[in-house]
Amino acid sequence: MQLLHAHSRAEAHLYLTVTPCPNCSAGPWEITAEQENAETAQPNRVLLARCVHCRTEKKFLFDLSDQPEAQSDDSPTSSVELINSTPDPSRIIDLGQWMSLFYLHVEAAAAAGRADARRVGFQAAQCLDEALKFYTEDDELPPKSAFFVASSRQAFAEHPEKFARQRLRDMRSKLPDLRVMAAKVARDAGAKQKIPWWKFWKR
Ligand SMILES: [Zn+2]
Repeated sequence: MQLLHAHSRAEAHLYLTVTPCPNCSAGPWEITAEQENAETAQPNRVLLARCVHCRTEKKFLFDLSDQPEAQSDDSPTSSVELINSTPDPSRIIDLGQWMSLFYLHVEAAAAAGRADARRVGFQAAQCLDEALKFYTEDDELPPKSAFFVASSRQAFAEHPEKFARQRLRDMRSKLPDLRVMAAKVARDAGAKQKIPWWKFWKR
């Protein structure tokens, strides 16, 4: 079983979103179980998934040792899980796949209610940030190493202009700062859980 290095559980789940089923080439996967891998000392997790289309079952082994320690402070963003809090690009999801995930989340946000749209929009912004991590210092176009899968290499060969760094930066500049978005998402999550203290008559 291939060991997949993920920066977070969120990144592991997104990997399953962009990985097609080897049997039917479709998908998506639904996670049927999640367990600790007892064979190693590393914080590895095994995700058992089933293809929604053809019911093929597959095990995915994720190495989560790159995952930062959970924040213990009371900052408004500490309850929100980031996809990748390091400056390093993903090792399992390539540039083309991050762009696909970005568009997927933008579409989902447009169709969602207000609080869900904020949460999904926050994910979209992070996907774009992950895509931008693949560009090197001065290059306007990404290096070949930014593409792991054939479908992404093909997309880049056909439409290199869509991967122009400035284009991605322009799209990113239309979205708020990650900290601002995270604070709103955390506030929404908290609002769902508890009735504000000043509405005590509603208890
Ligand atoms: Zn399948």
